[in-house]
Amino acid sequence: MKKTRLVGTLLSVFILAICIPTSAFADFFAGGRSSAKFNAYYDSSVVTYGYEGIYDTARASWGGISSNVAIGKTTSSSGLPDKYYVGFSADPTFLGLSSYYDANGNPVNNNVPRAFTTFASYNNNLIVYESPASSAVRISNAIHELGHTLSLAHTTQSGITDSVMFQGVQTIGPQQYDKNQLKAKWGN
Ligand SMILES: [Zn+2]
Repeated sequence: MKKTRLVGTLLSVFILAICIPTSAFADFFAGGRSSAKFNAYYDSSVVTYGYEGIYDTARASWGGISSNVAIGKTTSSSGLPDKYYVGFSADPTFLGLSSYYDANGNPVNNNVPRAFTTFASYNNNLIVYESPASSAVRISNAIHELGHTLSLAHTTQSGITDSVMFQGVQTIGPQQYDKNQLKAKWGN
């Protein structure tokens, strides 16, 4: 009797354990590009502010997780690449911003197909968090924004302690939860 109950309890724990990761909850957008293999075009502001290496690192950080995800780089703005910028925001809470567009350049939301994304880092707000010798915050912020360009949403699921898709100042790259969400969206 006692043994049976223990087995039942263990079985319940096991079922719970295998059900949690496969729950319907998702921290990614329904919309996005039709493919997660695309190119990024760097605006001249990226060079002006010295963000080329930062954006190269951020793009590479999302590689090798899903065989269907790769953000390349192009020197041509034609063909609807994603467009990366560096700018200034008078609102100190704005660290970066991703905006989504259809093929005609009209803004669209997260939950419909999009043709391309523009992404900007707000340098004046980011550099207050680190010394000029470090780019850890700027890299992490770029990784976060590129997560949005790959249709990842902000992490809201409870129990997750580490995620580059949390809002706020961080110095991390894609964590296991982020990688799982990327694969849930785009496949392995
Ligand atoms: Zn965000």
